[in-house]
Amino acid sequence: MHAVGIVAAAGSGLRLGADLPKALVPLAGRPLVCWAVDALRAGGVAEVVVAVPAAERTAFAAALPGVRLVDGGASRTASVRAALAAAGPDADAVLVHDAARPLTPPEVVARVLTALAGGARAVVPVLPVVDTTVLVDGDGMVTDAVPRAPLRRVQTPQGFLRRTLADAYAGLADDADLTDDAAAVRAAGTSVSTVEGDERAAKVTVPHDLAMAELQVRA
Ligand code: C5P
Repeated sequence: MHAVGIVAAAGSGLRLGADLPKALVPLAGRPLVCWAVDALRAGGVAEVVVAVPAAERTAFAAALPGVRLVDGGASRTASVRAALAAAGPDADAVLVHDAARPLTPPEVVARVLTALAGGARAVVPVLPVVDTTVLVDGDGMVTDAVPRAPLRRVQTPQGFLRRTLADAYAGLADDADLTDDAAAVRAAGTSVSTVEGDERAAKVTVPHDLAMAELQVRA
């Protein structure tokens, strides 16, 4: 199965408090986006397209020599849409990955590819929810508890048959702003399978996450 990888790397990194785009923030001396691209390749993805902030193209090109870059958009959904349009037509599968998940083990990527090769049209890596999970009202008061057994945290890379993802994006409104790509294909009526995720594929959002990732690299 020929898979193209899309890396969403056009976010700002405001919550990380960095003065450069989050995907360029160094982890053990290398930009997060380089780790994310390496993870996809190590897991079996042949070709990678990276959506980057338009104003930072030069810096990303320097960090990722030889990698195809496209200008991202104002939302993650717009960034993935742009990268999908640039992906080669010969790919039969697309794996969409967050630059913000630098230490995703290649086994997770391989599990996603295996599920697609086995007939899934859409597949996401997931982990169980270990904390008690509640609903709160606008005042922060607990209104209900959610049974956690059927809940899962969804990671990336998320894998799709290329046609399934392209059709789903074609059906989205221009200003759609989804937190992941499985939401797009589910909105189009496609069932989404799951494979086991990995805690090491955690998303770097706030400074503590980066500190944890640094520890992980050293370990
Ligand atoms: O903000 P959040 O961490 O949820 O973003 C997830 C991923 O989507 C990040 O890797 C970020 O770079 C990417 N993104 C993007 N284009 C945007 C916003 C976020 O590619 N406009």
